[in-house]
Amino acid sequence: MKTSFLLFFTAAVLFWSCSMIKQEPLKEQNPFFTEYNTPFDVPPFDKIKEEHYLPAFKEGIKQEWSQIETIANSSEAPTLENTIEAMEGSGALLTRVDNVFYNLTEAHTNDELQDIAKEVAPLLSRHRDDIILNDKLFKRVKAVYEQKDGLNLTVEQNTLLEEYYKDFVRGGANLDEENKAELREINEELSLLTLKFGENVLGENNAFELVIEKEADLAGLPETSITGAAEAAGERGHEGKWVFTIHKPSWTPFLQYSEKRELREKIFKAYINKGDNNNELDNKEILSRIAALRVKKANLLGYKTHADFVLEKNMAKRPENVYAFLDQLWEPALAKAKKEAEEFRKMIAEEGKDFKLEAWDWWYYAEKLKKARYELDDETLRPYFKLENVRNGAFTVANNLFGITFEEITDIPKYHEEVKVFEVKEADGSHIGLLYTDYHPRASKRGGAWMSSYRKQSRLGGIEITPVITNVCNLSKPTGDKPALISLENVETLFHEFGHALHGLLSNCTYQRLSGTAVPRDYVELCSQIMENWATEPEVLKSYARHYETGEPIPDELIARIGKARHFNQGFETVEYLAASYLDMDWHTLTDAGELDPVEFENASLGKIGLIPEIVTRYRSTYFRHIFSGGYSSGYYSYIWAEVLDADAFQAFKEAGVYDQKTAQSFRKNILATGGTEDPMTLYVRFRGHEPEIDALLKRRGLD
Ligand SMILES: [Zn+2]
Repeated sequence: MKTSFLLFFTAAVLFWSCSMIKQEPLKEQNPFFTEYNTPFDVPPFDKIKEEHYLPAFKEGIKQEWSQIETIANSSEAPTLENTIEAMEGSGALLTRVDNVFYNLTEAHTNDELQDIAKEVAPLLSRHRDDIILNDKLFKRVKAVYEQKDGLNLTVEQNTLLEEYYKDFVRGGANLDEENKAELREINEELSLLTLKFGENVLGENNAFELVIEKEADLAGLPETSITGAAEAAGERGHEGKWVFTIHKPSWTPFLQYSEKRELREKIFKAYINKGDNNNELDNKEILSRIAALRVKKANLLGYKTHADFVLEKNMAKRPENVYAFLDQLWEPALAKAKKEAEEFRKMIAEEGKDFKLEAWDWWYYAEKLKKARYELDDETLRPYFKLENVRNGAFTVANNLFGITFEEITDIPKYHEEVKVFEVKEADGSHIGLLYTDYHPRASKRGGAWMSSYRKQSRLGGIEITPVITNVCNLSKPTGDKPALISLENVETLFHEFGHALHGLLSNCTYQRLSGTAVPRDYVELCSQIMENWATEPEVLKSYARHYETGEPIPDELIARIGKARHFNQGFETVEYLAASYLDMDWHTLTDAGELDPVEFENASLGKIGLIPEIVTRYRSTYFRHIFSGGYSSGYYSYIWAEVLDADAFQAFKEAGVYDQKTAQSFRKNILATGGTEDPMTLYVRFRGHEPEIDALLKRRGLD
């Protein structure tokens, strides 16, 4: 997921020069400069045009800079209110444009937006550095920080102060002028490289198409897949043919079901070679430069590696702790994966075929074996997972747990026709916030699934700001006359992102800086992953998984089979994921800032842990967006780290009842509402009564 990726306050620009004559008329029509005048004050997507962003960014930077200067040059003695809280309240316009722009460049972008992003990235990077590296301002922050024990601060105020202080120190405020200048250059270059990296992955995702002309080449594929491919062909100018792409909803079923081994190989290789095709979208040089710059930056700030720099703020604290944790899981997972491979080899032999099991065969034989062993496959389940039913199922779970309700609002601005908006209310009818959902893939959207916000919850100075949260996914679309019928994996994704959404919606914090998902990276997935547990809980399944034609609830024996198949293919899933986590850690524990050959480096990294050739790391370096253009560098391990927490936390519900009100209220109060206001382990123990234990996770994955 993407925790809102907003710079907590953003960076200054000194290049602003625009005559008043030109500026004024533009301001009048630019929605960012006026009241939104929309329901719940949501962004007026229908009025915002591409040309509005750049002037709004520039003006936002200018305004914030002037607010920051006022704080820095104040003649009053520094206090929490006139320094830290004043900074927290600065930059409203910039936050406003930032919130719209960076959501759309992920969910619904175009060439113009991408160009603006490139223009804005160095401006924001400079602006942020101007604030962080402002000596007068840092002196004031430091002065408040040094008196903090005598200030009688609340827990939340104390955390806020510490966070701001750390931001300055980690941002280079203690460096001398020469090093500050170098840091600025590094930050600026990184801002552009990471942007370009993501853009290339998007380009590669959209570029590939497998055009099928003969019906015979569709052998084995389910009907939903074929209809989808025919529609894609029509949209892409291949009328009468079938087009498969490397977008997940198209790619995964193809690998699972296509009997044409050479076509599976083709589409599989297209996916794993993204960013590694020596074309204009190649990411090798870019990522190697990013890794090198990160080492340089870490060293400049006094850290041995980039991972040391990042992990200091996470629950894991140090790289050794992450490696030790991964190692604990790797051996049992790899052993399980090897057994799985052995079973597939046996199947191939039994079919009388004579080829070596390869990575593009894994999905196919896994699906076949699952069907044979558990009479379960994605296609059997799909009719019970109509998208709207699943979404409503997630809403019902939240209702049962917290009493909150979701009601669709149609008369409200949206950025795309597929978007839906829901008002979220407390049991007593009072307003909590809004949830936007945007569930289907399209060329303007990047791959994956994430939660983000158009507005974060806060109440600085007693002014209640309610959250506007978004869930963006790439789930199967409706095809032909059928509604969107999604896979079990998709169901879990929907619940996952919904969990993040609840974290944003049920936030009850004073400061935006600490609210909602503004928590350590290896803690944030607790709230999302725990929701996945409810998705497949028998009594919950029974309520929402209804056949899209007959309305019949999913049969008990199918639920039982889902339960039995839980551990199936978990060796593969765990190994594929852990391999990517090691790769991430290896890239970011480099101590030398020299640039490396990424393919060689990757092979060495994966060779070292003994990854078997039948499994490819979940992300190869050249399209590993999480770590080279998202916020997960040295943090990809977080998902499984947080799984220890969520497996253990869900145990509390299992023990007391999945809808037990006391447990639910404690979870809401101690985990969902508290954001980053306190140390995560303290919060967790307050909910659970003890620190998390790894056993529940090992058991869940069948690795015990
Ligand atoms: Zn997530």
